[in-house]
Amino acid sequence: MSTRLTPTHIQPIGQELAIAWSDGTESYLPLEALRRACPCAACGGEPDVLGHVIRPQVSYTPASFVLNSFQIVGSYALQPAWADGHGTGLYTFPHLRRIAAAAPADHHS
Ligand SMILES: [Zn+2]
Repeated sequence: MSTRLTPTHIQPIGQELAIAWSDGTESYLPLEALRRACPCAACGGEPDVLGHVIRPQVSYTPASFVLNSFQIVGSYALQPAWADGHGTGLYTFPHLRRIAAAAPADHHS
């Protein structure tokens, strides 16, 4: 039995990315939080062991938080393509879960 969590369904809904996981839970990731947690080298969004994200100064525009498209890479990561042309961030599934855990979910019980 594998306990590895994988998304079974991913769908952008408004300003969020809804993810249904293989354990039956769902995550709603605000696109802005998702972009700000971009783990690529340029953004440096990799969290430390305490979950804090220390990153260089990155300038965003409104287009930075608009999702153009996304794809699953190697069945272990999500790669979003943002409207400002950025698309090098590979969000591993555990990383997505951490972002979801840190993001407010005030409109879901
Ligand atoms: Zn990035």
